Amino acid sequence: MTRGFGVDIGGTGVKGAIVDLETGTFASDRVRIPTPHPATVDALVSTVKEIADKAGWDGPFGCTFPGVVQRGVVHSAANLDPSWIDVPLDERLSEATGQRVRALNDADAAGLAEVRYGAGRGRNGVILVTTLGTGIGSALFVDGALVPNTELGHLELDGHDAETQAANSAREREGLSFKEWAVRLQRYYSHVEMLFSPDLFIVGGGVSKKAAKFLPELDLKTPIIPAELLNTSGIVGAAAEAAKA
Ligand code: BGC
Repeated sequence: MTRGFGVDIGGTGVKGAIVDLETGTFASDRVRIPTPHPATVDALVSTVKEIADKAGWDGPFGCTFPGVVQRGVVHSAANLDPSWIDVPLDERLSEATGQRVRALNDADAAGLAEVRYGAGRGRNGVILVTTLGTGIGSALFVDGALVPNTELGHLELDGHDAETQAANSAREREGLSFKEWAVRLQRYYSHVEMLFSPDLFIVGGGVSKKAAKFLPELDLKTPIIPAELLNTSGIVGAAAEAAKA
């Protein structure tokens, strides 16, 4: 079995696990530490190191971040501490752990896992993976190749940053029923569909396990299906990317 290690930095928790790269499943228990507040660079870097230590991982690994990560450097942090802008996350983690680290956007990692092991496996064409959580993340694939950092959660729709209206956090914050939320999702996905004409939408994020409550409400030309890896996808995608690098 070929194994890798992935860490997923989220707004509430930082999680890591050893991954079986043949199957895209966890090969160890998941280690989780609550995201430090404030989520400063030093605090998060030591949290990631602690997770690698606790998991007993000694080797190169991948780490996600909920913002734009271009060649290892963070360029946005909409839902995390702004001090992250321009920080070379890969280098900082390498210094702290002594390992080669590949840093990437969280939705890109989740998408890579879905396309390689999950709902998008064996499918070509244009696939758009979106994650509905605190924000909306997006990962765009063309015949299996990722176009990184598409940031489609921040499309401006009806004068708003789309994720502030259509993310799962908006549903929770405003106490929307799934039917009411689906109206917002309809507006969002029809717009994205118009822009990209994808062959397939895959919907991830924790709420995708309740997909039966909202996906059937949507009326789109494009098939839209739930993600399969659910809350393991960020870790799995990060581990797989690091192993490739
Ligand atoms: C960030 C994206 C991220 C998404 C999901 C957005 O606010 O800008 O980079 O992928 O949230 O965490």
